[in-house]
Amino acid sequence: MSAFYLERGIEKVNIRKTYDNVMHFLVHNSILFTVIIMCLVHATLLTMVWAGEAQALIVTNTISVIVYLFCILLCKDGHVMPVYVSILLEVGIYAALSSYFIGWNSGGYFFLFAIVPIIIYLGCFIFKGVKRWIIAISLTAIFAEFVCLYLKCSVSEPVYDLNNGIRVALMVFSSFVMFFGVVFYNTIYIYSSEHEVISLEERNEQLTADAKIDALTELLNRRGFMPLLEQIMQGKAEDKFCIAFADIDNFKRVNDTYGHECGDEVLMHISRMIKREMTGCDVCRWGGEEIVILMKDCDIEEARTKMETVRKLVESTPTVFYNVRIPVTVTIGLTENVEKYGSPDDLIKVADARMYYGKQHGKNIVVSEDAGEAK
Ligand code: GH3
Ligand code: MG
Ligand code: MG
Repeated sequence: MSAFYLERGIEKVNIRKTYDNVMHFLVHNSILFTVIIMCLVHATLLTMVWAGEAQALIVTNTISVIVYLFCILLCKDGHVMPVYVSILLEVGIYAALSSYFIGWNSGGYFFLFAIVPIIIYLGCFIFKGVKRWIIAISLTAIFAEFVCLYLKCSVSEPVYDLNNGIRVALMVFSSFVMFFGVVFYNTIYIYSSEHEVISLEERNEQLTADAKIDALTELLNRRGFMPLLEQIMQGKAEDKFCIAFADIDNFKRVNDTYGHECGDEVLMHISRMIKREMTGCDVCRWGGEEIVILMKDCDIEEARTKMETVRKLVESTPTVFYNVRIPVTVTIGLTENVEKYGSPDDLIKVADARMYYGKQHGKNIVVSEDAGEAK
């Protein structure tokens, strides 16, 4: 049963991927796709008017096919503007000539509507800002032409009297081209805007996550860590957890001796080690060479054992920088959450103070009690 659902899941993912690839291809090649379709449309119209023996339109459609073949070459070279103008002129001229030669009822005017989404979509791609008045002018011109053709050609006799079957075929074909144009351009418009929204959301999520992560060590920074600590402190009183404040000993000396780049490498190395050792805990780069660790479901004894392990690990695993081994140690202050600590800052301060006590008493140690209580 589960294998069946797994297969169905994989199938759905594959379909989605294929759909995305096709849409991606169409969105990025929409202009080329449009001129190829226009070329095929005129090749089809050519055969129809050929069958209807409308000489003038045989010539017109042949010229249209040639125009679109040129447009294909222009598209490949990235000349979008001449393509836009060619489509506009070609369709405008073709609609007028076909209405005049084979009559209003042959549906040549449908092409005027078919290019409305093309004018808007392509126009918005080419013209930015105030230049978009060109789109408005183009649309107005198309509509004006439609009205003029209607007034002139719907009441006059055509030059060629096509037989009824061919006229119906032309009408159906032209209206289908209009329908296809509207559907196609709306589909790619909706797809690309949805795609844009999704990628913006993803980028936003990434930025939010990045804002909580320290770029050098990839540990949480304070912005990422403090809400976690606040959240656990607002929880039930019986929730046990400990905070460790670790500071690298004599780190300034590392920078002074081997350079800042080496200091960075040491920081990354120690951060990686602590993160790996403290899986399941929240580890934060508090500042400079200070690391704070939040250990949940853990009392002070367990925490002390864990921190001793970390201390020994750091001591025994030097950073290797250009084949030079750089040994460092850490001093760690430790505290357990008990009721007397009102805020996350209080808790951190206690751990920091214990770490400071360790610094004054030889470094490379774990301190889990206050000065007066320390053994
Ligand atoms: P102590 O044992 O008392 O902690 O001595 P320390 O030298 O480690 O401490 P101190 O506060 O004197 O110096 C900390 C140094 O850490 C100074 C600063 O240049 C260095 N540091 C802070 N952030 C970075 C960093 O991102 N990269 C590098 N390479 N060094 C850093
Ligand atoms: Mg230090
Ligand atoms: Mg420090």
